[in-house]
Amino acid sequence: MSSSFLHTPIEYLKGVGPKRGELLRKHLKIFSFGDLLAYYPFKYIDRSKFYPIASINSEQTFIQVRGKITGIELVGKGRGQRFVASLYDGTAVVDLVWFQGIKWIREKLVLHKEYVVYGRPARFGSKYSIAHPEIELLSEFRVNAIGGLQPYYSSTEALKSKYIDSKFIAKLTKTLLLQAEGKLDETLSDAIIRKWNFPSREQAIKNIHHPKDTSSLNGAIARLKFEELFFIQLHLFKTKKLRFNKNIGQRFTKVGDLFNTFFHNNLPFPLTGAQKRVMKEIRFDTNTGHQMNRLLQGDVGSGKTIVALMCMLLAADNGFQSCIMAPTEILATQHYETIKDLLGEMDVHIELLTGSVRKAKRTQIHSDLLSGACKILIGTHAVLEDIVQFKNLGFVIIDEQHRFGVAQRARLWKKNSIIPHVLVMTATPIPRTLAMTLYGDLDVSVIDELPPGRKPIQTYHYFDSHRLRVFGFIRKQIDEGRQAYVVYPLIQESEKLDLKDLQDGYESISREFPLPDYAISIVHGKMKAEDKDFEMQRFARGETQIMVATTVIEVGVNVPNASVMIIENAERFGLSQLHQLRGRVGRGADQSYCILMTGYKLSADGKKRIETMTSTNDGFKIAEVDLEIRGPGNLEGTQQSGILDLQIADVVKDEKILKIARETAREIIEKDPTLTAKENFKLRNEYLRQGEKKTHWGMIS
Ligand code: ADP
Ligand code: MG
Repeated sequence: MSSSFLHTPIEYLKGVGPKRGELLRKHLKIFSFGDLLAYYPFKYIDRSKFYPIASINSEQTFIQVRGKITGIELVGKGRGQRFVASLYDGTAVVDLVWFQGIKWIREKLVLHKEYVVYGRPARFGSKYSIAHPEIELLSEFRVNAIGGLQPYYSSTEALKSKYIDSKFIAKLTKTLLLQAEGKLDETLSDAIIRKWNFPSREQAIKNIHHPKDTSSLNGAIARLKFEELFFIQLHLFKTKKLRFNKNIGQRFTKVGDLFNTFFHNNLPFPLTGAQKRVMKEIRFDTNTGHQMNRLLQGDVGSGKTIVALMCMLLAADNGFQSCIMAPTEILATQHYETIKDLLGEMDVHIELLTGSVRKAKRTQIHSDLLSGACKILIGTHAVLEDIVQFKNLGFVIIDEQHRFGVAQRARLWKKNSIIPHVLVMTATPIPRTLAMTLYGDLDVSVIDELPPGRKPIQTYHYFDSHRLRVFGFIRKQIDEGRQAYVVYPLIQESEKLDLKDLQDGYESISREFPLPDYAISIVHGKMKAEDKDFEMQRFARGETQIMVATTVIEVGVNVPNASVMIIENAERFGLSQLHQLRGRVGRGADQSYCILMTGYKLSADGKKRIETMTSTNDGFKIAEVDLEIRGPGNLEGTQQSGILDLQIADVVKDEKILKIARETAREIIEKDPTLTAKENFKLRNEYLRQGEKKTHWGMIS
């Protein structure tokens, strides 16, 4: 019954009709009664309170004052004419101003009478005034019949011109709530409601629209936030449990020769505590008989590659092949080189498969994978092609997961009848709250420790006009034997412009650093893969001292001798990108520097990003600020994940509620994974109702 009520088309609501129905659908996506009930106000104004006029100190908010009209004046002539009344409450005077409807207000206002005035103050010089306030005689003023709090709904200009403004929507929700009486089913279990002392769903919906008072509003908000987060968490835990029960995993029972040889003879340095811990976690996971699904977060330079290699050796020891997939050809090639170096004389057949591998070689790789001769495959998207088949793929590693879509990744683990273990490595730390919401069904490992002996990178901000000083600094570093990157932004929509920036930059740097004393590499996205690679190699071998590049070098490139990272137009980069770029230096023993170049004009956000970068090297802190600035929906990799279209909760601000919701969901799924117990009946109904919406949730694998 309630379901059909909620699905009733909005035009059937009294006061709406077909025309307004069309407008509500088009502008606010309100199609049904349910949609309108879910269209919560964005703020509430307490109209039971009066503020002293002297306390007005900002232009931000609406305010309600009361006082006597002490003066009335018509100012100016013709179109600029306005009517000004002074309102005095014993603390200060505020001017009330009308530009229109002057005749009407002049007749209505009576000097020396007391009025209640409501509006938004604006500042002129040292004085505040309120233009076109709502005004009422104090003697006629009634506090809003349902209490002091008035809901404010957002509307659009187009709607307002058709009189569908906040007030009108408030009228609609009031009408609808009367009809909804007794029709809004409870969605939470009695136990949860009792435990947290939540209002019923019906009460909560009523109070979110037309709160009796602040405390009932707060109760409603808490419950609705909890509810929203809770069902997400319930879904994540349910999925995880289900997969755990269903997905049989390959069992890596032993640590064999390859792993041991590598560990005892080839490991170039002692592992950090964090690396050891992660290896332990993975070894445990891969021996449970269930498929591992793990996210490995580790800041740039924290040493994820060697962890990846040891996992693959573990797989090989147990008779399985593994595959590591990187987002770019440069990165894949570099992984290949690094891993080959690390393996040294060890007899492990590894191959590199990228788009530019020639046909004959490709065919050979395909057949070696099929026969099982090739133990480790390193590559780009090329490994996803259907023609790439393994004999027994047991371990899959995905580097920098944000670059790959879910569907792409899924193709990789379908290459084996038993799903291989999956390790997703990312250097873009995800704030904890977000990770809980987004990847709640994954296990997460964190490398939270950098290899010893690293000197923290020093980061400075310079305006473009100081470029010569920056050049001087680069020269000094190069003369000491170091190398430098100079990076330009590359934004798809204006690729041409960016390329020009890059070329201009390259020319001016070439003038500053002329041959034969200096050699400069240039790399950008429009180059052929082999040319890019050639330049990268020259730089890596130290044959060129400066690498001028677009962000193609952002991810993973490792040249330990490079100690300077200059980022041009730094204001155009997002925080996580800046952090990634900075991570290209500071990889050796030398002190490294990152210099952010910007113009004088910086937006508030731009400034904040630059300040954050110059004040911390901590990727997790940076991720938190990024989340704050951009909001959860805009973080890299989260855009398509509908999960963050939260209606009322905010994963940043509501961390506490999120934790409670998560804990509650975990306990319930632990005891009743299928939600079939009688006490969970309501939860199950709501869970199923929401079901269709979230098939894509949490699907990292
Ligand atoms: P990322 O996590 O960014 O992928 P890498 O795996 O590229 O980091 O490692 C960064 C650098 O640190 C490499 O040069 C690597 O050889 C070095 N490294 C990794 N682990 C250690 C360690 N435990 N001790 C010293 N150096 C290490
Ligand atoms: Mg890496």
